[in-house]
Amino acid sequence: MMKILMLVCDGMADRPIEDFGGKTPLEVSMKENMDAIASRGICGIMDPIAPGVRVGSDTTHLALLGYDPYMYYTGRGPFEALGAGLEVRKGDVAFRVNFATVDEDMVVKDRRAGRINKGTADLAQAVNEISLPGVDFVFKESTGHRGALVFRGDHLSSKVSDSDPHEIGKKIMEVKPLDGSRDATRTADLANEFIRKSHEVLKRHRVNEERRAKGLKPANMLLLRGCGVAMDIPYFEEKYGITGSCMTTTGLIKGIARSVGLELVETPEGYRDRVMTAQKVLEEKDFLLLNIKEPDEAAHDMNPERKIELIEAIDEALAPLVDFVEENYMVLLSDHTTSSSYGDHTGDPVPIIIAGPEVRVDDIKTFDERKAAKGGLGRIRGRDIMQIMLDLLNKSEKFGA
Ligand SMILES: [Zn+2]
Repeated sequence: MMKILMLVCDGMADRPIEDFGGKTPLEVSMKENMDAIASRGICGIMDPIAPGVRVGSDTTHLALLGYDPYMYYTGRGPFEALGAGLEVRKGDVAFRVNFATVDEDMVVKDRRAGRINKGTADLAQAVNEISLPGVDFVFKESTGHRGALVFRGDHLSSKVSDSDPHEIGKKIMEVKPLDGSRDATRTADLANEFIRKSHEVLKRHRVNEERRAKGLKPANMLLLRGCGVAMDIPYFEEKYGITGSCMTTTGLIKGIARSVGLELVETPEGYRDRVMTAQKVLEEKDFLLLNIKEPDEAAHDMNPERKIELIEAIDEALAPLVDFVEENYMVLLSDHTTSSSYGDHTGDPVPIIIAGPEVRVDDIKTFDERKAAKGGLGRIRGRDIMQIMLDLLNKSEKFGA
């Protein structure tokens, strides 16, 4: 069977930049391989969810995989927990967690506990030993100062606020119910009890005593935010009848991938190795989602020059894919626009190429935001992509006689 590689250059699309004579980083970049793939494909622009909707990488990746984010996304927590390797079942309520530093008055001194990166597994183990009557819970450390907390049981609700004040110098917030339901009140109470008890355990933990002795900030508080309830999401393989994997360095996108049953593949360091590994994975699997995060980070840092360097570095690694699309399919796109002048995601549409056998190749030979807009694909939504791909594979179900 023909294979599908979906390459997401995260936040690669941008707005016109004055210093670049009104061009975008993609328009300024030298990118012969992306252009070669555009010449062999059909181009267009895509609204991740709908025109002008500013999306996160999580909601847009759900859409790119063909799932309605408004149906399956209630908060970041469950996906963060899946990304951290926790098991999450339908009905579980999950939070994103930061290891943080507070003083005796519960005022936040550091939201990342001095960017702690060692000893968090030991801290998490101690936290899991506290008792929280009435609910099963698991807390797990993730990368750096991050972690995730899952509550499992009856009468839970995701309609609760954050304990994270999102600012240094402010007291931690009490978790509050966001609607009048008893379940939300109960969940907020449980969260507050968890915060109190975990603080007691953390503040006198050996790891933190050692940190204090070394002049490092203790990770004595867990900040909770992004509460969501896990939904029953149909698995990718069952939905489409094709097998799939995902390669990404981002915990949250790992979580999205796991939520639909995509197998996670280890990400090699360099872009060439990633592309090579992707091709190897596709010898076994029908579909691979490859997310390359770095262009988005450059735009969040408001560094469009860096974004250009990254686009050019990614492009160099794509050389083998120009031949790949003779026999297989490739979807090349940005998951959303990240504006280097605004420093965050914006709701502008993104350029997209679909290349592969029997695609109605158009006359677009350069891949960027403005050229792609003149392509044969026109303007589509994120959720349309998988349907288009199934149709190209002749796997789309016929509607009518
Ligand atoms: Zn993104």
